[in-house]
Amino acid sequence: MSTKIMNSDFEITQNPVISQMSSMDHDQILFCSDNVTGLKAIIAIHDTTLGPALGGTRMWSYNNELDALNDVLRLSRGMTYKNAISNLALGGGKAVIIGDSKTMKSEALFRRFGRFVNSLAGNYITAEDVGISPSDMVWVSKETNHVVGLPGKSGDPSPVTAFGTYMGMKACAKIRFGTDALEGRKILVQGVGHVGEYLVEYLRKERAEVFIADISDDTVRKVVQKYGAKGIELNKVYQQDMDIYAPCALGGTINDDTLAKLKCGIIAGAANNQLSIENAHGQALLDKGILYAPDFAINAGGVINCFSEVKDLSSEWAMGKAEDIYHTIHDIVARSERERIPSHVIAMRMAEEKINNGRSNTK
Ligand code: NAD
Repeated sequence: MSTKIMNSDFEITQNPVISQMSSMDHDQILFCSDNVTGLKAIIAIHDTTLGPALGGTRMWSYNNELDALNDVLRLSRGMTYKNAISNLALGGGKAVIIGDSKTMKSEALFRRFGRFVNSLAGNYITAEDVGISPSDMVWVSKETNHVVGLPGKSGDPSPVTAFGTYMGMKACAKIRFGTDALEGRKILVQGVGHVGEYLVEYLRKERAEVFIADISDDTVRKVVQKYGAKGIELNKVYQQDMDIYAPCALGGTINDDTLAKLKCGIIAGAANNQLSIENAHGQALLDKGILYAPDFAINAGGVINCFSEVKDLSSEWAMGKAEDIYHTIHDIVARSERERIPSHVIAMRMAEEKINNGRSNTK
């Protein structure tokens, strides 16, 4: 049993948490600490108007607790938008475990985390995210039923994410080029990991000319060989002559530096948080005439897959729902072009409309 140390001098001097929560419209935050297992975690529930909050758990070595708090607040709000725009009866939530995923994992830590998730009584459903493996989630599931993405259940969400991204890309092509056929289009996929590789497969089946870049030379070699894609050097990505740029690695690749170089007509990829500074870079894309598929709408295949597990629906249902991303992206981008408003703003407004409708239906 650990000893609890009470410190009466404790004082928060900046960034009061409740003000920060209310500025982003969050419902609830659970701070979790356990000295026995070393667990330090934050679970943020952003909104549950449309259903229980669903979003993964990330394990990361944050520089400090404020960075972890900011991350979980931003990510959980993103889940609310993603779930709403995809017409899923889910709210938005996310959890972060503060620590090194290579050295700090233990069954006890994840089981303790599972008990915290369970204390929310189904208001928050967790899944895997960066730094978490299916076996970690098996430990969590020993303490709570409110977990999805377990081995033998809905499985790896990446194929569904890739299919939805492919559909969203086609919708953008329809608007920009007048046809959604991708044959002969020059498409650059940046990051050919779980999602990127499946995306390359779809694109090559349609005989697009696919360029790939990845920090792993072995991965590039494998994907070039398997699908007949063309590998390019990492530092040539943004200068590449291409019709479509598909970021499928890390976030923040749309920034001042890359915007000065990018010559594509469309950006449509699976990476989260692609706009480095949301409003400034969303507007810059519109001004440059680059059509942008908002990340949280085009990459919703993964959460669709999780939802199928929550509701015991088939994998065919999940793929059918991911196919609908074509129409969602088409609506967003067409409205953005018509109204001359950045597509991410349109997508957020559409998600908010759905949440507000849900709110008035429950009154
Ligand atoms: P992953 O880790 O399997 O693949 C990422 C790939 O990007 C790896 O091959 C890595 O080597 C490469 N990479 C990393 N940094 C790079 C760089 N600077 N330049 C080029 N390549 C680089 O991840 P994933 O599951 O394929 O996810 C890819 C992106 O899509 C992430 O941003 C993730 O958050 C997002 N996403 C994934 C899913 C899903 O279902 N897996 C769902 C929604 C969103």
